[in-house]
Amino acid sequence: MTGDPPDDVAGAPAARPERPGLDSAEAARRLAADGPNRLPARGRSPLPLLLLREMVHFFALLLWGAAGLALLAGMPQLAVAIVVVILLNGVFAFVQEYRADQAGRRLRELIPADVTVRRDGRRTVVHAVDLVSGDMVLLEAGDRISADLRLAETHALAVNESMLTGESVPVRPRGGDAVLAGTFVVEGQAEAVVTATGARTRLAAIATLTQAARRPPSPLARRLGTVIKIIAAIALGVGTLFFALTLLLGMAPTDGFLLALGVTVALVPEGLLPTVTLSLARAARSMASRNALVRHLEAVETLGSATFICTDKTGTLTRNEMTVVEVWTPAGLLDLAAPASAADIMRSAVACSTGRLVRTDGALKGIGDPMEVALHALALHAEAAQEEAVTRRFPFDPVRRRASAVAGGRLHLKGAPDAVLPLCGEAPGAEQALEAMSERGLRVLAVARRDAPAGDTAEEVERDLTLLGLVGLEDPPRDGVTEAIATCRRAGIKLAMITGDHPGTARAIATKVGLLGPDSLVLTGRDLPADDAALGALLDHDGAVIARVTPEDKLRIARALRGRGHVVAMTGDGVNDGPALREADIGIAMGASGTDVAREAADLVLLDDHFATIVTAIELGRATYANIRRFLTYHLTDNVAELTPFLVWAISGGTVPLALSVLQVLALDIGTDLLPALALGAEPANPRTMDGPARTGALLDRRLLVRVFGVLGPAQATVEMIAFTTVLTLGGWALGADPGSALLAAASGTAFAAVVLGQLANAFACRSQTRWAGNLPWRGNRLLLGAVASEAILLLVFLGVPPLAGLLGGTLPPPAGWALAALAVPAVIGADALHKAFRVRRGVPSIQRPR
Ligand code: ADP
Ligand code: MG
Repeated sequence: MTGDPPDDVAGAPAARPERPGLDSAEAARRLAADGPNRLPARGRSPLPLLLLREMVHFFALLLWGAAGLALLAGMPQLAVAIVVVILLNGVFAFVQEYRADQAGRRLRELIPADVTVRRDGRRTVVHAVDLVSGDMVLLEAGDRISADLRLAETHALAVNESMLTGESVPVRPRGGDAVLAGTFVVEGQAEAVVTATGARTRLAAIATLTQAARRPPSPLARRLGTVIKIIAAIALGVGTLFFALTLLLGMAPTDGFLLALGVTVALVPEGLLPTVTLSLARAARSMASRNALVRHLEAVETLGSATFICTDKTGTLTRNEMTVVEVWTPAGLLDLAAPASAADIMRSAVACSTGRLVRTDGALKGIGDPMEVALHALALHAEAAQEEAVTRRFPFDPVRRRASAVAGGRLHLKGAPDAVLPLCGEAPGAEQALEAMSERGLRVLAVARRDAPAGDTAEEVERDLTLLGLVGLEDPPRDGVTEAIATCRRAGIKLAMITGDHPGTARAIATKVGLLGPDSLVLTGRDLPADDAALGALLDHDGAVIARVTPEDKLRIARALRGRGHVVAMTGDGVNDGPALREADIGIAMGASGTDVAREAADLVLLDDHFATIVTAIELGRATYANIRRFLTYHLTDNVAELTPFLVWAISGGTVPLALSVLQVLALDIGTDLLPALALGAEPANPRTMDGPARTGALLDRRLLVRVFGVLGPAQATVEMIAFTTVLTLGGWALGADPGSALLAAASGTAFAAVVLGQLANAFACRSQTRWAGNLPWRGNRLLLGAVASEAILLLVFLGVPPLAGLLGGTLPPPAGWALAALAVPAVIGADALHKAFRVRRGVPSIQRPR
């Protein structure tokens, strides 16, 4: 700030009278006339276009091609059937994407956006949408500017306009200048009058100019997209090979093509991506109902893999409800039962504060920094709240760690003791008093004064001070923090407390809530090594406390820990915390306190500011990741049963007929499988979700592949093929003979029933990765019971309703066929139970350790 020109009111002999602002009746009138201060709904692509998009992506194009070929080959029913599949699949994907998108929109609307205004001559807080032109707005560092304003008065104001202009160096507007909606106050304070709201702001004009950009896909979506593309490529390759094989075997090219198509379709897990998106959206919704708002869906998954939490102290671990419990002056400790003795020191403390205790509708309410509110509360008791007009302010910033103001010709200053004591003359006893207070876990502020201050900048003005005393504030820990910290320990998540406060205070609070680790690592920002690798190694411990931290330190800590391979969650509330929040894998901002700037940079907003909410969100994230693996296992299992008939047919050189038709394969993938997969995505969290470290990394790991392709899939496919060939044999078929269409339809219906019944059982097997189906609470997932019932009904429809059954090529099985198909249930459940028991015997831990 050095060399700044003085602000426009600096040096004014007496402050102007406070601007009263609008009266509420007038504000209400204007709000009714002008409408809410909200940007017009963003131009989204029209819905039909979005629907169309779901019908022309890579896999859909493949199917369109197939339909065209089927038509050319003279099989119009097949062509129509494939088109129906494309449409159904497209609509399903569209509905899921749309619901996920709506959920995201609603979540963003919940993010708090409050503005401090002066109405009826009093300071109050209104929601940003209720601002009207003419409102008098009070701005502080960290505020988002939510309407176009004309500045009336500024104190060291700096505004970041990068959202509008792309320019990242803050500008320093002065009284009379305009500041625009969408920008942020990064330094100082100001008063300003609203000139335009909502659709009349410049931001609205710019927003309608820019084309509605499509959201970039999330990392998870990209990873899944890759998985699907690889599988699709393999499917195409195998399909082509099959086509060549049919030609070699002397099949008609049309039949050969059908077969190849069947193989390809069998291998592609169509409904997967939309199911994932929807399950993330569902998780985001349940997080929101527990006070954790994710600003984009992929944060759900990242949260689940967090391994390190760097948390604030004030407000997150503690309640941020402060009370002054001790005041020390060079004359000794004051007796607060007689608050008048604190009048002098409190008058100065309040002069350099803007937080106030105000009476609204009969109740006392704090507005602004809770610590400043506590000072004001004591000042009111001490009858020292009579205020002199402030002519100049040097607002708090986390690097100086002090705030000051000129009033009545004197400089009043308060701040962190280590940032204030060096500026003061001799003050015997201050150090001891400070030590004693911080050891008790009190937050300590030093208050000082300077008569006849001179200079322009904070550095010049804030010197030659006289210490008035130390104020000790109590801020008790929040309920539930100790338990949440214990849960983190159990879950293998490391913790660090990162605070701007005094190390003694930080240590005392960390001890009280059980955060301080066994090696009692308490450092200050100044102790941190300059080298990132050394910093990472130093901090890679559980329960470290780092005090007197600057925002730059926070950024480095996040980077260093990520460099060690950690997935870092970092909280922040201040103006300068933005870079650290962005650097962390999960930036966490406060919804109740904290600044708009921090919220804008965060991935997660805690509506209740509570540490325990972070832990809840991590648990939900882990549960969601487990659910995605559940339905991935489920979806992939029947791919094995779908592919096997084609393999058997090929290996037998065509002597065993095809057990499933191409359309039956599609009916499985896009018909019977969909609802159970969705329901598995809603499986409630396992109570042991937080036992042991997170499972991070690939979705398709060895364990999942072994389970699908080594256990569940083969069990299902074996029953399928045995049922199929037995029904054929019972009907008089011999290897290599033509079974005739009626017998083939009955046997094919049997194979289809075996796969569907196997999947029905599989839905229950997939509910747990460690416990067999019989060992799970039946009613744990009601959605699944409904989905499985509808799966059974669909089975009967596909086999029993004549035109459909004829198209698919399978009829209701004979009684023996039903009996055989039903074996798929014990086969799948049994294979799964044996496999799980075997893994337990071999001592494979239920939760893998990372790295
Ligand atoms: P914390 O992690 O405790 O919230 P901050 O960075 O907000 O840390 O504050 C650092 C220190 O600066 C505090 O311990 C306090 O001594 C001092 N401080 C905080 N807020 C103010 C303020 N409004 N005015 C003066 N000093 C302040
Ligand atoms: Mg703070």
